[in-house]
Amino acid sequence: MKQLIGIYGASGFGKELLPLAREQYPEANFCFVDDGSEYKELNGYTVYNYEEYLRLEFQDKAVVLAIADSRIREILVAKCSESDIDILSVKASNIIVLDEVEIEKGAVLCHFTQLTSNIKIGKQFHANIYSYIAHDCVIGDYVTFAPRVSCNGNVHIHDHAYIGAGAVIKQGTPDKPLIIGKGAIVGMGAVVTKDVPAGAIVVGNPARPLNK
Ligand code: UDP
Repeated sequence: MKQLIGIYGASGFGKELLPLAREQYPEANFCFVDDGSEYKELNGYTVYNYEEYLRLEFQDKAVVLAIADSRIREILVAKCSESDIDILSVKASNIIVLDEVEIEKGAVLCHFTQLTSNIKIGKQFHANIYSYIAHDCVIGDYVTFAPRVSCNGNVHIHDHAYIGAGAVIKQGTPDKPLIIGKGAIVGMGAVVTKDVPAGAIVVGNPARPLNK
């Protein structure tokens, strides 16, 4: 029997991710899984809530987390593990990955992602279209890149950080990597030239803390 892959999140990113997953897993059946969707069908695929999805009679079921909010991804990982549903990674057909790149479970690498060499990436990483990570970067768990993030070499990004579209992160050095702290948010188009503390929100060029 075919595998059923649920794209968890029937919203913007989910609609973009389903075709990538379909390309990577051509033998599988697909649906969306969403706990709050107003739709019963989206782009020709049925939308189930999680309870309905669990009741479907497929022996082999798995999901892909298509939700940009990393805290929600973490909650859904726990929920899926309780019900023994595996979480797949999805890698677009044209990504570039060079030498010594380690990526943990659940990564989503959209089209035109480039990971050069000697890179470590934690669980449930999302790289939206056209993002790159250069040499010797260390990326934590549940990190999210919006489209076209430029992450230069020797940068360490801690868990749950969110990097906005078009942000550029200056390279660090082997002795002093540039650090983006846990849960930090880098605004779209920001040019990050120095460390960003945990939980901070930075914007602009050069990136500075957001004045609320
Ligand atoms: N969602 C869900 N279960 C949750 C939390 C969120 O199914 O526990 C769904 C939510 O209903 C929404 C989607 O996840 O449809 C998140 O979509 P959003 O537009 O906020 O973000 P994006 O597509 O950019 O990740």
